[in-house]
Amino acid sequence: MANPAFSVEAATQAYLATVSGVARAKSDAYFEGGYWLILWSFVVTAVIMIFLMRSGWAAKISAWAKRVTGNRPWLHAMLAAFVLIGIVALLQFPWDLYVTYFREHQYGMSNQNFGQWLGDWVKNALISLIVFTLLASGMLRLIRATPKNWWAWGAVVTAFFMAFFIAVAPVFVEPLFNTYKPMTASPLRDQILSMARANGVPAHDVLVVDASRQTKRISANVAGLGSTMRVALNDNLLNQATPAQVRSVMGHELGHYVLNHIWSMVIYFALIILGGYLAINHFVPALLRRNPKWGVQSLADPGALPIAILVISAYFVVMTPLVNTIIRVQEQEADQFGLNAARAPDGFAATAMKLSAYRKLEPGKWEEIIFYDHPSGRTRVETAMQWKAEHLGEPGVE
Ligand SMILES: [Zn+2]
Repeated sequence: MANPAFSVEAATQAYLATVSGVARAKSDAYFEGGYWLILWSFVVTAVIMIFLMRSGWAAKISAWAKRVTGNRPWLHAMLAAFVLIGIVALLQFPWDLYVTYFREHQYGMSNQNFGQWLGDWVKNALISLIVFTLLASGMLRLIRATPKNWWAWGAVVTAFFMAFFIAVAPVFVEPLFNTYKPMTASPLRDQILSMARANGVPAHDVLVVDASRQTKRISANVAGLGSTMRVALNDNLLNQATPAQVRSVMGHELGHYVLNHIWSMVIYFALIILGGYLAINHFVPALLRRNPKWGVQSLADPGALPIAILVISAYFVVMTPLVNTIIRVQEQEADQFGLNAARAPDGFAATAMKLSAYRKLEPGKWEEIIFYDHPSGRTRVETAMQWKAEHLGEPGVE
């Protein structure tokens, strides 16, 4: 029963007041700057894609790839997609440099020098190049095979492709950037494993990832699918947080696992990408007809790739509030699960304050709906304090 002597609102305000002044202003500025990055990223993409179409590069690269591969459609699509996506990555380099290097340093979030950052950028670019070449050439193949409803098959193929990537990423991709090691034996590790077993998670190990190689951010994650599924926390969290705080975060991560969030995300994403493919199917042929100078006649020509990327980028900008809301609702569910599992509402509230280093604490109602892919600090503390009010005086609550 809620204790009338405990005010959820007052307890929430007390936590929020611990982040004030310069720290609050910096966190607000960092996060609000991110809203503009959505717009500016789109502008950068638009400039690059329109340049590739208007300069005739897209058409020329497609024609060249066709000659080189002896007019075999599958190879033609792959080679043209590979070259075009590679050029896009290079043209985007200055923007990536600003957003993920200079801006992160400006706000004191990064632990990388330029060489380390560049190494990660190259690895990321190569992985994206492979993934998106396969995806784009697969879509081009589908467009040729079933021009009328490729978008429906495309969404199905993309969902399988995504599930495959999520399943292999912990084994083949993440080790390229970070090292995952089993957490050393400690009472905290035993408590985490006990909480996992109590919630039906068959974990034998808790992994610790050396995220401090890149960033000062605290986080934890559940990744992989099926046999590659695993729960990990990062070294920043382990070094900065009390055991109750770590358990509150791990309770949240177990929530993602138990509530099958990765699977439902694949399904949600397939439905969203379906809309994106429909947008491409609708707008790209019309844009190609209106711009004969681009020298690309049909969506089945790999030379149409830049304009297709531009259309789907615009679609994703419009879908930002929906995508954020789908993710944020899952995160809220995981928060609730974590409070029940870890029974550490103050640990969770304190962690939410630490996360304010990079997430604005008190947004407006619509601001949170549109821009937040996790509940805001205020929402999280309120949730935790409400839980605390309902469990006041019970044993084992911290
Ligand atoms: Zn989460």
